[in-house]
This record gives sequence, structure tokens and C-alpha cells, in this order.
Amino acid sequence: MTIKLHNTKSRKKEVFAPIDPDTVRMYVCGPTVYDRAHLGNARPVVVFDVLYRLLRHTYGADHVTYVRNFTDVDDKINARAAESGRAIGEITEETIQWFLDDMGALGVLEPNHMPRATQYIPQMVAMIEDLIAKGHAYEAEGHVLFAVDSWREQYGKLSGRSVDDMIAGARVEVAPYKKNPMDFVLWKPSTPDLPGWGSPWGRGRPGWHIECSAMAHELLGESFDIHGGGNDLMFPHHENEIAQSCCAHPEGDFARVWMHNEMLQVEGKKMSKSLGNFFTVRDLLEQGVPGEVIRFVFLSTHYRKPMDWTVEKAREAEVTLRKWYRQIGLAEAGTGKVHPQVELELSNDLNTHGALTECHVLSNSNDVTTLRASMRVLGFLENGIPDWAMVPGFSDAETGLVRYLLQEREHARRKKDFERADRIRDGMARAGVVVKDTVGEPEFEKTARFDVNLLDELWGNTP
Ligand SMILES: [Zn+2]
Repeated sequence: MTIKLHNTKSRKKEVFAPIDPDTVRMYVCGPTVYDRAHLGNARPVVVFDVLYRLLRHTYGADHVTYVRNFTDVDDKINARAAESGRAIGEITEETIQWFLDDMGALGVLEPNHMPRATQYIPQMVAMIEDLIAKGHAYEAEGHVLFAVDSWREQYGKLSGRSVDDMIAGARVEVAPYKKNPMDFVLWKPSTPDLPGWGSPWGRGRPGWHIECSAMAHELLGESFDIHGGGNDLMFPHHENEIAQSCCAHPEGDFARVWMHNEMLQVEGKKMSKSLGNFFTVRDLLEQGVPGEVIRFVFLSTHYRKPMDWTVEKAREAEVTLRKWYRQIGLAEAGTGKVHPQVELELSNDLNTHGALTECHVLSNSNDVTTLRASMRVLGFLENGIPDWAMVPGFSDAETGLVRYLLQEREHARRKKDFERADRIRDGMARAGVVVKDTVGEPEFEKTARFDVNLLDELWGNTP
């Protein structure tokens, strides 16, 4: 199976060929941990979870290494600690667990490595020393800055801007110690009340961008296959990651394929606190929107298009999933294969919308084992059929009762004893059994108000 992925670097869809087919390597920028993930934060997590699943499906589960970091040192975290009076470690620990729980509810697999920035400070310091030694960084007033001019020709290629354009249009932080306003911080000094680590430049803490470069290098090497994230990270974060990594390790080429997902909107509008349409994944889960439904809505839009979250889409997704889960729940267990069309759609730059369309076809043709396998590769059914969609099955005795009553109804109809046939039908409805007359054998389902005693009574009273 050939996988094609859109590479932001070349602005083209390219045939994906891993550097080492035995270990496909992927890095995705993870959250800064100081608060609950909002719905927009969850989009890249789900998008790259589908890619991870596709890679595992294609190359084998043991042949993919996926790294997603936690940024647990950041000024936003420091500010949260200061305003709440709580310890930084307590806040980051709690937020990491929230994140894992919330993403787990969306059916997201945990990556192979989830490095925390604070565990890789020595690697960051070593990388910064290397950049200084190679003439790509300089120390100024306790800060270490990356010298953009030392890499001017390359800087900006990912996002397609020149350094001059960026200076003209960017909200760059002007500081007297910067040689070029575009130079960015690799290391900054910490006051005693802020987290800090010893370094050749005094007690301080790392800049955000160096974290990803150091952790990706440590866990994936100089060159790896895929780097992902939201397109809001393309500049400056990813541009800076490339500059640091390629200058520190010119023998490698850092990430070969860069993938960026588009942003999320709510009912056609940008999600923002001022518009009152800002909510977290946890908010939705607590309102009773199942995680699988959130996942379904996300996957119904291609990752490179803006995703519009609407209540109507969530409602439709729930109806569809309920139907599919019910079909799977009622069917005999059996092993099916992912439908080739689903593989084809996903291999075509993660066309999750196309894959879901094919699942509709499978459901309509009642190809339940293929539907089950296809849903699994999309990240549904990870823990079986969720409780909210569960239709409890009939026990053997109950099935026997229902079948007997259906036979009796059929006899009555044949003898044109419609009164008796209707009596049985109404009695079954009262007992909470829904009967669907089909061309072949009638189908029957249990409802929540099923009462076996009423069914038993009906059996006893049906001469
Ligand atoms: Zn990053």
C-alpha cells in the first residue's frame, strides 16, 4: 500500500517512503500543560492519532515510533502557579493527567514516548553549546539567542517567507541585546522565584523551541520521517525548530515530511473566550457528548481544511455511530479486514472523510465484519462498544421466547386471525421488544424498557 502525504515543505502530496522501513519515526508537538485542552487543541491529537494508526496498520505496530512531548516549563505555567499559589509540579502533573484522560476519551492511543521538557535540560544545554560553537548562537546578557543571520538563506522556507518579510510583518520581540530582531531565545535567565537549571550561562531555563529540537534528536535522531502539528505552529515554532536542528546537526535533515492541520471553528466562528463559544474537551464530555462522537465529527473533515464544530454535526454523528455500533453488537463476532477502499482513502493524505463515507456503504450493505475492522483503523471500538451505544443482547431463553411469539404471530396471520396477531405484536411492544418485519426473518431488538416478565406473561396467555 502506497501512502501519500502532503508535505508542507514542498507544498505537494508526496509518496511516503520511510528512511528506515523497519522503524517509521514521527514527532508531534504536544501541549503546554497549565490548563484543560480546549476543543481546538484536540484536533492535531486526533489527526496524528489516525496517521499513527495508519502507519501501524501498514508497517506493523512494532515498527512505528511516535513521540509527542509535554511542555512543562513555560511562562504560562509560571503565571498560573503565581496566580493560584500552587506548586508548578502540582499543576503540570495534574494537567498532564487531564490531557491523557481527555484524549483517551477520544480514543487516542498513547504515543511510544511522551517526553517532558524538564527531563531533557542537559540535552538542551548541550545543543545550545553546540550551536554557539558552530557560530549559530550567541550569549547576551544572560540570554542565548539563535542568530538568524547565520542561516538567513534557509530560514523561513517552511512557511514560505523571507527574513525581510518576517521582520516587516512580524510581531517580533525587540530587545536591545538582539543582533537581529528575528533572533530567538534558546536560553533565558531565571530569577530565584522561577524554575531554573544551572548552565554555562548561569541559572536559567530553556526557550520553547529548543525543547522540541532536543527531544526529537534524543529520541528519533538527526533525521526522521514525519513532524506534525497545527498550522498555527508553522511560524515561528517549526521554523525555529528546523533552524536549531539543522544547524546543530548538519549531517541530518531533521524531519523529511512536515504535516500541518488546519484550525477549528465553532458554528462557523473562530473559537474565543470573548465570543462565549470557548469550551474544553472535558466540557463536552460532561455535557454528555461521547468522545467517539467528537472523534467522528473531527474525522468528517479533512485535516487540511478548517474544521467547523456544530451541534448538528455532533447529533448526526451520534445517530450514525449508534447505528453502526448496534449492527456490530448484534452480529456474531468474526474477523474482518479493513476495506481496501478505506485503506485507499486513508493512504491518500489521510482522507478520513472518504474513509467514513466507505463505512456508510459497509453499514448499508450490512458487511459488519469489514465495518468493524474499518472502524478500528479509524480509532473507534478501541475498548469495544461504548456503554452509551450498547444495546444489551437477549439471553438464549429470551431469544427463544421472542422467536416462539413471532412464530405464533405468523400462524395467526396465516389463519387470518389478525386480532390475535395484533395482540401478540402489542404485547411484545409492551415488553420492550421492537420487531422489524423484513423480507426474510423478522428482526428484533431490545429497548431500555425491556421486561422479561411481561414477555413471559404474554407467552403464558397466548393459546
Ligand atoms: Zn514543537
